[in-house]
Amino acid sequence: MKVHPPYRVFYGLADANNFYVSCERLFRPDLEGRPVVVLSNNDGCVISRSNEAKEFVPMGAPAFQYEDIFREKGVEVFSANFALYGDLSSRMMSLIGSRVPEMEVYSIDEAFMKFEGMDPSDTEVRMRELRRTVRKQIGIPLTIGLAPTKTLAKVAARIAKKFPDRTGGVYLLDTPEKIEKALRWLDIEDVHGIGKRLAARLRRMGVHKAADLMRFSPRQLRKKFNVNLARIRRELEGESLYDLEMPQPRKRIATTRTFAENITDFEEVRERIVTFTAVTAAKLRRQGSAANFITVFIRTNRHREDLPQYHGAVTLPAPYSTDSSILLSRLAVEGLRKIWRDGYAYKKAGVIVSELVPANQGFMNLFVPPDDRHRRLMPVIDRLNAKYGHDLLKLGGQDPQRTWKMKQAKLSPAYTTRLSDVIRVRVPRNFA
Ligand SMILES: [Mg+2]
Repeated sequence: MKVHPPYRVFYGLADANNFYVSCERLFRPDLEGRPVVVLSNNDGCVISRSNEAKEFVPMGAPAFQYEDIFREKGVEVFSANFALYGDLSSRMMSLIGSRVPEMEVYSIDEAFMKFEGMDPSDTEVRMRELRRTVRKQIGIPLTIGLAPTKTLAKVAARIAKKFPDRTGGVYLLDTPEKIEKALRWLDIEDVHGIGKRLAARLRRMGVHKAADLMRFSPRQLRKKFNVNLARIRRELEGESLYDLEMPQPRKRIATTRTFAENITDFEEVRERIVTFTAVTAAKLRRQGSAANFITVFIRTNRHREDLPQYHGAVTLPAPYSTDSSILLSRLAVEGLRKIWRDGYAYKKAGVIVSELVPANQGFMNLFVPPDDRHRRLMPVIDRLNAKYGHDLLKLGGQDPQRTWKMKQAKLSPAYTTRLSDVIRVRVPRNFA
């Protein structure tokens, strides 16, 4: 080991166990202890398995090939409900974020954490507490790994997951002895950042375990493979090279959808464009940006050559950089009117905002003062939507009866995200 404790900086990985399955179980506690799988969109293949299902269903298994096994073993099968998972994920992430000094949301169910100048054992105790809190408040089981580098934190989490009885779901990988033991145990393809193909190549060179990688110097690995593998090796040795990555604000934000059916009615398309704009504006506000341009497009079904084809798009400048759902919706509808052609069957539409600037230092147009009413209203809408579910507060132009979702064969109720499953509030048209 090149780097020895005490480590000044520590990383952690919080990883939800069988996340999608755990989300479904929240509302079906009777499924605890029973085999459960979640299928991808259009029920293609298995994307999440409960521990009980892991024995006889591989990850990614095509559903139609496993129908008999599902029936035989009494497997409960769910279609993915990403609105629900996304909602539970953001609740879980904000709870974790409130309990750790620094966090990077890495995926829908994983977050890296960073601890500086803190005692590892104290941190371990606090992580056990956090795990209990997440279980109690969100209902999702977590596994947490702690180690001097991100790559090792991932290893620690894997150990915690593999040996829940011995670790209690939290594992601190801190001494050189523990790290060496872990690397002798860990298969090379399970090292974070090493793909299947690279692992196969390494195995042909006799590298089967993570520890075998240590036989090569970083220099050799860089020459033979690439700089990434050299860095992974150094990270496995306890030398921290990867810091938390902070999300870069996006330069443009798009919300586009393909409709389930062709739409010929202007009002229907208008209402969707307003919804897309509201979603886009909320994304803008979340990243603290304001837009200077908005693009609207509508398109017929390209694959229906028997139908007349049309693709309309227009980009309009905003009078000043804005994150207001109301102003952007007004512009979007204005744009839609410009490109609308009667007599076509529309299949796809979308809204894109661009030329983004930080919301608090946007250009002030001297002739068109920013509408203060919107500025104060938007955070209210965002807060209420966050609290009571998306779409609770819709703009006047949106049809409260309509919700969009991907085609799903069987669907669990969207307790946290679907309006019809919670309560309904209609915002009067003259609200703004
Ligand atoms: Mg997970």
